[in-house]
Amino acid sequence: LSYMFIAHDLSIVRHISDRVGVMYLGKMVEIGTDEQIYDHATHPYTQALLSAVPVPDPTGRENRERIILSGDIPSPANPPSGCRFRTRCWKAEERCSTEVPLLAVPELLKGPAAHDSACHFAEVVAPVAA
Ligand code: SF4
Repeated sequence: LSYMFIAHDLSIVRHISDRVGVMYLGKMVEIGTDEQIYDHATHPYTQALLSAVPVPDPTGRENRERIILSGDIPSPANPPSGCRFRTRCWKAEERCSTEVPLLAVPELLKGPAAHDSACHFAEVVAPVAA
């Protein structure tokens, strides 16, 4: 039995999914196993979503760094050039406005962290305390 579960709450998705895809403005930006996405997220949008997942343990809440995105979501009918996330991304550089990042495994990622990410500057950040 296979099924597709679509949700905005990544904490729920983790409980029922083996494979997770993260979409932004109608495009897939990161795909991997549940472990790769939750423990080795590389795309800034995924990292921002994970930082917003509610943490039941007050100690864990204090230790995590929340990423607050600025700006509004652009219109899907008129998306930004290059990377669609660039107008809200804190890592955006000139290249992001001219070159669409491919959904592929970044060369720097090896081992269990290696999975598809559509970011020119994909890198693993410390997982969110759970
Ligand atoms: S390609 Fe650039 S704008 Fe897009 S997510 Fe990566 S760093 Fe941010």
